Amino acid sequence: MSFDRPMADRRGIVLGVANDRSIAWGISKALVGAGARLGFTHQGERLERRVRPLVESVEGEFLVDCDVTDDAQVEQLFSTVEEKWGGLDFIVHAVAFAKKEDLEGGFLGTSRDGFLLAHEISSYSLTRICQAASPLLSEGGSVVTLSYLGGERAIPGYNVMGVAKASLESSVRYLAADLGPRGIRVNAISAGPIQTLAARGIGGFSQILDVVSERAPLRRGVTQEEVGNTACFLLSPLASGITGEVIYVDAGYRITGM
Ligand code: NAD
Repeated sequence: MSFDRPMADRRGIVLGVANDRSIAWGISKALVGAGARLGFTHQGERLERRVRPLVESVEGEFLVDCDVTDDAQVEQLFSTVEEKWGGLDFIVHAVAFAKKEDLEGGFLGTSRDGFLLAHEISSYSLTRICQAASPLLSEGGSVVTLSYLGGERAIPGYNVMGVAKASLESSVRYLAADLGPRGIRVNAISAGPIQTLAARGIGGFSQILDVVSERAPLRRGVTQEEVGNTACFLLSPLASGITGEVIYVDAGYRITGM
């Protein structure tokens, strides 16, 4: 392994690019810089128009439509991986969704539908993807997902998504326990707030950004690039001893914020 290009020749898939502000895109750019070979998914035809030019700009090797709630599409994704590469070294899972009405006001009013939908897309999908990828993942393989502080604290407006992130972080530990004996690692990055499409749906998001800039030890928020670099590290052999962890990329906000 070279410290310069720690991902040289490693093949991986990125789920969750919607546009060039997506955290998944920041991670993709870091991975390409580190020498990785990438395949991508998009969710539905509408997003394909935005995602395809991005994928082409980094010479992505394929782009597959994959709604994580659709088992046939999940299976199609891994058939494509098998056909193209015959194996897989890493996965970036940067997918989440909750209904807009569940990301405003309090948590108390969350509907059954809204609760289940948020959990299916934002938490269960990691397990489903790891399950389907498992036969293809190589020893030394690595999986990274994205979480947020709202999974451990009750952050106003984050509501059902916070509960889903708690479930996601716990899933990371169980998946790490199951896949560890095969030398496969699973970790989460708990990222500070970043202006993205998904973040726009969260009530009071701009206040959250202001509070972080005031109270984080670094007195600023974090960038897509900073999260990208950390994901690249966790996915690379440089992080070979780290699994089942939640790593905070939040300018230190968790230790001083309230
Ligand atoms: P984004 O809107 O760019 O990405 C969210 C992605 O989820 C999109 O690409 C969307 O297509 C995908 N998605 C939603 N439902 C899906 C489904 N059913 N099937 C497949 N894909 C689906 O926003 P982002 O902020 O980059 O979000 C990426 C991840 O980072 C999410 O897990 C989010 O919770 C997490 N995160 C974001 C922040 C932030 O402040 N932006 C902070 C911490 C964690």
